[in-house]
Amino acid sequence: MNSKRQFPIWHPFTQHAVMPEMTPIAQSEGAFLTSKDGRRIFDGISSWWVVTHGHCHPRIVDAISEQAGRLDQVIFAGHTHEPAEELAEKLLHVTPASLSHVFFSDSGSTSVEVALKMALGYWQNTGNADRTRIVVMENGYHGDTIGTMSVGERGVFNAAYEPLMFDVTSVPFPRPNDADATVAALELVCTRGDVAAFIVEPLVLGAGGMLMYPPEVLAQLKAVCEAHDVLFIADEVMTGWGRTGSMFACQKAGVEPDIACYSKGITGGSLPLAVTLCRSEIFDAHYSKDRSKTFFHSSSYTANPIACAAAVANLKIWLEEPVIERIADLADMQNRHIAQMMDDDRFDNVRQCGTIAAMDLKVRDDGYLSDVGPKLYAFFQERNLLLRPLGNTLYVMPPYCTTDDNLAEVYNAIAEAGRTFGS
Ligand SMILES: *Cc1c(COP(=O)(O)O)cnc(C)c1O
Repeated sequence: MNSKRQFPIWHPFTQHAVMPEMTPIAQSEGAFLTSKDGRRIFDGISSWWVVTHGHCHPRIVDAISEQAGRLDQVIFAGHTHEPAEELAEKLLHVTPASLSHVFFSDSGSTSVEVALKMALGYWQNTGNADRTRIVVMENGYHGDTIGTMSVGERGVFNAAYEPLMFDVTSVPFPRPNDADATVAALELVCTRGDVAAFIVEPLVLGAGGMLMYPPEVLAQLKAVCEAHDVLFIADEVMTGWGRTGSMFACQKAGVEPDIACYSKGITGGSLPLAVTLCRSEIFDAHYSKDRSKTFFHSSSYTANPIACAAAVANLKIWLEEPVIERIADLADMQNRHIAQMMDDDRFDNVRQCGTIAAMDLKVRDDGYLSDVGPKLYAFFQERNLLLRPLGNTLYVMPPYCTTDDNLAEVYNAIAEAGRTFGS
């Protein structure tokens, strides 16, 4: 095989041997992608969970082109600019009141790495250098860098890199009727006194299989952290920007995190940008004439002005357009459609959190590597629907401009997939 000729581009999470053809996309608008050969494809996963209002929202497009001609990029150490200043100010208005400082980066994974470094730096700089343990939740996902893999679920995706990963303590996913076990496990590990932070995806564990747990459990976990002085890190990279029905998932639980990570929908899904927000105590612990206490982190494109301008435009859309109402409508529509799936005995565990709906197709072999995932993907692709099942878990996470007719098509195809592949 001349792989150099055949696959000059190595695509993410893609096994080229079983999926040799990439779909060329030429355009996007609203909830649709247009392929090079003119097919209109419904974007049922918001282009990997990033697009919120819809593709190419005119206000975001305008903000990007306007900013690109004015100030494209500048070093952010020792310098600042209006898009970053305006964005930070607006973010601190809409995020939980506990958060008072904004650190910029450029991807969800990086925002989590920054959160972990902030937590360790906080304990180091306050004379508690023995607090280094990170506690995580079973089935969690926080990214694909070495550090974020370390705090995520271990499995076939990262087995080869295991020797490079650091040790963490995992608490069980809060299963219905057994959430007490999770709370008790967190309580137990926190009594060790060496825990720096607990990191969790609030309400929905995305890549771990769209697993959902109630706000009360999140609030209980936060209370345990508070009682033991353990920093609570909310990874809202996926759940943020309306997916769960409120702007941020923590708000549904009345939880005020010590550190929070936001990315994906922060620019409406148009450009890469991320932020890690923290409590003033964490900033203060790094604030010193002693330069060894500096927060030693940066990436080349920290707070890129064009990306910040896109995010400012996104926040203006949130403040000036009826986004919350749109999300509530989408959640209602999802609810009506999944009500029918509940009667379909080919599907298990039909669930919803805000705009996200998920269900498990009953199949004999249901691991991520079972053949059913790629088969389902191809099945939906033939119907011009972009859905990307996680193993046998089907989920629909569409942009907020999705109509009831769009969803009807999606759920008809899902029901048909159930008849075709279910057991
Ligand atoms: C996608 C995701 C990440 C990683 O974000 P990238 O931008 O892909 O690096 C981290 N945490 C959660 C919860 C995510 O869903």
